[in-house]
Amino acid sequence: MDFASRLVNFDVAPRDPYRPMATPIYQSATFEQEEATAFGPYDYSRSGNPTRTVLEEQIASLENGTHGFCFSSGMAAISTVTRLLRAGDEILADSDLYGGTCRLFTRILDRTGVVARYSDACDPSRFAEQITERTKLVYVESPTNPLLRVIDLRRLADIAHSHGALFCVDNSVMSPYLQNPLALGADIVLHSATKFLCGHSDVTAGVAVVRDQALGKEIYFVQNAEGNGLNPFDCFLLLRGMKTLKLRLDCQQNNAHGIAKYLACHPQVRRVYYPGLSNAVGHSVHFQQARGAGAVLSFTTGSIELSKRIVEATRLFKICVSFGSINSTISLPGCMSHASVPPEVGALRELPGDLVRISAGIEDAGDLVADLQQAFATAGSSARIATEDRTEVA
Ligand code: PLP
Repeated sequence: MDFASRLVNFDVAPRDPYRPMATPIYQSATFEQEEATAFGPYDYSRSGNPTRTVLEEQIASLENGTHGFCFSSGMAAISTVTRLLRAGDEILADSDLYGGTCRLFTRILDRTGVVARYSDACDPSRFAEQITERTKLVYVESPTNPLLRVIDLRRLADIAHSHGALFCVDNSVMSPYLQNPLALGADIVLHSATKFLCGHSDVTAGVAVVRDQALGKEIYFVQNAEGNGLNPFDCFLLLRGMKTLKLRLDCQQNNAHGIAKYLACHPQVRRVYYPGLSNAVGHSVHFQQARGAGAVLSFTTGSIELSKRIVEATRLFKICVSFGSINSTISLPGCMSHASVPPEVGALRELPGDLVRISAGIEDAGDLVADLQQAFATAGSSARIATEDRTEVA
């Protein structure tokens, strides 16, 4: 079956006698046992819940994996993967990661004796030089958030495996519709399901998918032991949201293309970061490993003040830290989603203060470009007024 068909054709309610079209919410913390010493398929929802099972099997299938796990947030999924490491082990991560991931790696993992180091994974040869015998996990996003830098996932998988390390890819920016890292050699694919998988800004959730049975068992062990699995109601909402992933993302991607082309010609824009532009760095690598450029893009203006005014002058774009929603959103990552990057890690990466990130929604493409047009005009004229004011005061 094609991806579009698989999104809506799966067993939504295994063994249910009423054949519902939507997965029932098994809002039960415990399940009765027939005998004291014999467990049924479910006994306690922290360990497993029928609604979560449907979701976990569906997401595993969409990512071409065999074992899927759903968590209470993207960070809970990432944290669970780090539990595979022990004191003395190292993570080698790309330097352009989501701010919360850097915070976890740098300011929480150090308490457990796991060391995180960073290197630019867009330069695989130099990245490979940073691997040591202690490196047990290589961790990247591609395209990265928020600079949309493209990492050659096949190459990185080879590098990680030749050093005996696991290769983990955060696929939140792409979703399984546009990219399947397991098919490119990754051992673990992660998602902040809060983003495109959910799509409606009404669930906080995370996903991990693997193909290896032993790895799946380890992840399940941590999920059960730490109790960070997704609750049944949110599993239901996520299952509902995922059915329209292709419809939403086709429209959002189309809108993002239109916006990127508009910004690329705008005289007040310094640089547009979007792998869908044919002159983007990493464009060809991206299209060897993904089926589309996605709906997230960013740009710089050369002035933090101007960028801030543009963000605040938009009307259709909501100022919001997240991305992937059916609503278009806009943000200044340097002081919003990536403000949590520890300064020592920030020093290793390029994160322009004037960077504006956009996540295109499903609104009318023309309305979105018109809104940006008016935002640039408003921001530009308020800049002129501010300069005139300053001149008068001077
Ligand atoms: N990964 C990426 C790329 C993200 O952007 C985010 C959050 O913005 C996360 C992971 C964390 O996910 P969550 O907010 O669902 O915990």
